[in-house]
Amino acid sequence: MPLLGCIADDFTGATDLANTLVKGGMTAVQVIGVPTGPLPEADAIIIALKSRTAPVAQAVEHSLAACEALLAAGARQIFFKYCSTFDSTDEGNIGPVADALVKRLDCGFALANPAFPTNGRTVYQGHLFVGSNLLNESGMENHPLTPMRDANLVRVLGRQTDGAVGLVPFAVVEQGAAAIRRAMTALKESGRRYAIVDAVTDAHLLAIGEAAEHHALITGGSGVAMGLPANFRRAGLLPERGDSAAALPPMCGHAAVLAGSCSRATLGQIGLARDHLPVLELDPMATPDARALAAQALNWAEGRLGDTPVVIAASAPPEKVAALQARLGREAAGALVEQALATIAEGLVARGVRRLVVAGGETSGAVVSRLGVASLRIGPEIDPGVPWTYAEPTGLHLALKSGNFGARDFFLKAFGQ
Ligand code: ADP
Repeated sequence: MPLLGCIADDFTGATDLANTLVKGGMTAVQVIGVPTGPLPEADAIIIALKSRTAPVAQAVEHSLAACEALLAAGARQIFFKYCSTFDSTDEGNIGPVADALVKRLDCGFALANPAFPTNGRTVYQGHLFVGSNLLNESGMENHPLTPMRDANLVRVLGRQTDGAVGLVPFAVVEQGAAAIRRAMTALKESGRRYAIVDAVTDAHLLAIGEAAEHHALITGGSGVAMGLPANFRRAGLLPERGDSAAALPPMCGHAAVLAGSCSRATLGQIGLARDHLPVLELDPMATPDARALAAQALNWAEGRLGDTPVVIAASAPPEKVAALQARLGREAAGALVEQALATIAEGLVARGVRRLVVAGGETSGAVVSRLGVASLRIGPEIDPGVPWTYAEPTGLHLALKSGNFGARDFFLKAFGQ
């Protein structure tokens, strides 16, 4: 029976949360999409949806379906995970999904906290900062889908819900869990449905987690989940697992890296890999056909597969990406590369690859869906936010890296090279 049931509004966000819980000593499995069968065994189940920018009604429907599955499995507490930059619009989807969950759980109140101090996301007097900038001056004001033009989360969430939103300010949070608990109770009793809770340090997040021990619903980024494993341990529900929470079946089989991210960090990782590993750079401009690109790559990989990972990358600098997009259109260019890499993943697995790193959020989505992955058991962290996972029902070890994550030697480190 899971102790904690989580609903995440996107794929890599779900992994980030799962990774945080595993580091806190809980076993965690990430389930891809609304589950259709029984849930796997773990202390925490994280259902990864694609609801961040979906139409509001669909986001609510999928989140409620995920919540039902978690409750049916016996989850004692529900966690609604969204981005640490509170990615949403005035229409939603954070407010409407939270409203639906508050109603379903009949709890009348939930805290909201996206802070992630390690990544520079802090909340002070209800205002979200990214590093030293307010959210609306951080670049997020230009996000193509969820432009964040107001850093005041009391106002931002207030526009997305018909419930009232209050604030537990820094001065209270500094006093610790008991003071935070009292402030949240007072807000609930005065008719507030939500409390934005300030948090500037991990110590604040731990105190908030402790204060929310008996809440039916918690909403926030992965940071505020840091304090939750200790609650379950204190209640005698979670044994001391130590490192064994991250244990996965032993790794075996050939190793490979597939890169579809064009982010700076990934380009740097490929650059370093060139000096140490066999690297094939795909040229979608010369071969604008997914199947032909995949055939070239699989041909190249033949005879090179083994313990040393092969690296197959579509990743390119901005001018090359722009050129392909100018020729095919933005969406078609992305889809071409994603489909080519998904076909390559399939071909590599057929040739005995069992350990696979995928770079890029969308790219990971395409690969995971092509391989028919239903769930990911979360293992040890390679670099901050990127764990090894064990994918069922495929029996593969996968590390799915959001483009900008990982140090320059990530591809080497992942395989102990
Ligand atoms: P990130 O996590 O860095 O955002 P994604 O995988 O989410 O990475 O997004 C990268 C997008 O760029 C994908 O749609 C991928 O197919 C596309 N892409 C990769 N290589 C190229 C290229 N050479 N030209 C055009 N688009 C590309």
